[in-house]
This record gives sequence, C-alpha cells and structure tokens, in this order.
Amino acid sequence: MPQKPAIFLDRDNTLIHDDGYIFEIEKFAWITGAVAALRRFHQAGLPVFIVTNQGGIGRGIFTESDMHNFNHHLIDAAEKAGGGITDIAFCPHHPLSPDPVMAAACRCRKPEPGLLFDLAQKWQIDLGASVMIGDRDSDVEAGKRADMAAYLFDRGDLDQLAKQVMDRHFTAKTDGSK
Ligand SMILES: [Zn+2]
Repeated sequence: MPQKPAIFLDRDNTLIHDDGYIFEIEKFAWITGAVAALRRFHQAGLPVFIVTNQGGIGRGIFTESDMHNFNHHLIDAAEKAGGGITDIAFCPHHPLSPDPVMAAACRCRKPEPGLLFDLAQKWQIDLGASVMIGDRDSDVEAGKRADMAAYLFDRGDLDQLAKQVMDRHFTAKTDGSK
C-alpha cells in the first residue's frame, strides 16, 4: 500500500491551552492560530494526528474515559472549524504513577517515538516525509527519533509555523492540485 505524508501535533499547549492536567471540557480553549493551522493542513489534504503524553491517567488525576471525552470534543471542534483530526494516540504512563506498571519505562511516552510508529503503521504513513510539531523538546526529540522533520512551537501563533512547514515541506506537492 502506498504511504503518504502526514502532520503530527502535540496536543497540550500546541493545539489547546493547558495550565496543568487538562481534561475538563469547560476549560477547552484553542491556542492562537490553532484553528487556522488545522484548516491549512486539512485543505492541503494532509492527515493530521495528535500524539500526546497523558500522564494524568497514570497519576490518577483523571481517567482514560475523561480524556476520550475531552478528545471527542476537540475533534468535533476541529471539524466544525473546517479542520480535521484523523486520529489521536496517547501515552497514559507516568514515572510518578503509584501503579508500578504505569510507572515503568514505556515505549510511548515522548520523547520515545512509539506513538508515532503506531500511527504510521495503522494509517500507512511515510514518517520520513512527515512533520512533527510540539511545544516541548520531547516532542521534537520524538519526531527526530522517528526520522521526521520536527519543529518546536515556541508560543505565538501556531498558524505562522504551520505556513512555514507547508512552504518548506509540502508546497511543491500541493501546487497544481487546485
Ligand atoms: Zn507510555
């Protein structure tokens, strides 16, 4: 099956505001430029994936079900705004979990690249032609370990970075399609 490129995004403080462990829909708020960035990727025909460390599950701060509810809200909001999120992969583990199984080293907590590999396999994605964007060094590191181009979102307007990424990596491929 032919492989295609995709955009991989961190969730917390890349797409949505997070001042700790966010899981309550009432606190949902987009980062500046996030909606425009999602629309830009979607209009270019790129699958968009979210890869997110959700150690609050391992720490017992919220449940996996809480996270899924929040993520469903995020996916709905993205679609209503003209964007699209193809899939979300998460790591529930945390080194400070009281549960030794959840505290053990895992292959999915960024900077480990396990979530990226899982999504690439599930959706036939060419990681070498894909881009990872996140607000932490661990996001960039995970992308690099998966052989991707990786960008640190250093606050500001996410769509400015999205435009740079599109110009640098995808313009030639999307030109002529309109
Ligand atoms: Zn994990």
